[in-house]
Amino acid sequence: MGRSEMFLDGLRLEPVDPSVRLSLGGKAAQLEDAPSKSVLEPATAKLLERLHELQDVFYADGRHAFLLIFQGRDASGKDGVIRTVCGAFNPTGVQVTAFGPPTPLELRHDFLWRVHQAVPPRGMIGVFNRSHYEDVLAVRVRGLAPEEVWRARYDQINAFEQMLAANRVVIRKCFLHISRDEQRGQLQERLDDPTKNWKFRLDDLADRARWDAYTDAYREALTRCTDDVAPWYVVPSDRKSVRNYLVARMLVETLESLSLEYPRIDPAVRDAAKDFR
Ligand code: AMP
Ligand code: MG
Repeated sequence: MGRSEMFLDGLRLEPVDPSVRLSLGGKAAQLEDAPSKSVLEPATAKLLERLHELQDVFYADGRHAFLLIFQGRDASGKDGVIRTVCGAFNPTGVQVTAFGPPTPLELRHDFLWRVHQAVPPRGMIGVFNRSHYEDVLAVRVRGLAPEEVWRARYDQINAFEQMLAANRVVIRKCFLHISRDEQRGQLQERLDDPTKNWKFRLDDLADRARWDAYTDAYREALTRCTDDVAPWYVVPSDRKSVRNYLVARMLVETLESLSLEYPRIDPAVRDAAKDFR
């Protein structure tokens, strides 16, 4: 094994440990000594092939639903990881939902109403681009609801996710963590590249100005709402190749842990079909 293969072997996401103060500084957005793109990309391609096979049996097995949540600041790569990693799935078995500001109707319901409707049925993989966590992130930082309202939501989210897990929804949550510098570069590119101008919104600058308030809000959400059945992972996302590798590997390992099986044919069906022509 060469040096980079050995490094690759140990390169995996660990769930957030709620008993340790979560470090969300610029360093945590990078992985020191991570292998180069030329090592990571072929390794990721293999993981994506495996993911494709696993999704096929996941769909056929039909015993679980899979809910994969992506959160992250503007330009942290939520769209990119969904395109690259979830692009490995057969589109028939996956549904992607993006959550923007709630509509007037959604605001008249409890905050989980729109989210619950988007939870995938068994056999399907549901991918969330933002989620109910916005209700303790954007809502908290922008002051869109009184503190007693958003503060009560950590427990409500935990109860909701527990209920889903008890109903065989496998939940995994990824925070795509980028540094301030990386975000500046990405936002600048959105201004400079005419094919990316449409992604730039002035709100992004307002949120960037509240960087530290978002860090605190993320730290609290990730620490208070993580456990065995619905773990959070902090994905160092300054480099796309590192991000994609880590997310793909976590998904492969999660699906492999489910002991998925193709359903066997019913003997009566086999028998009845034995002389078909
Ligand atoms: P984007 O992901 O760039 O399309 O932006 C979606 C925007 O919707 C972000 O600014 C989010 O913070 C915002 N958003 C999503 N969910 C909520 C929510 N529940 N309350 C307030 N803002 C939200
Ligand atoms: Mg945006």
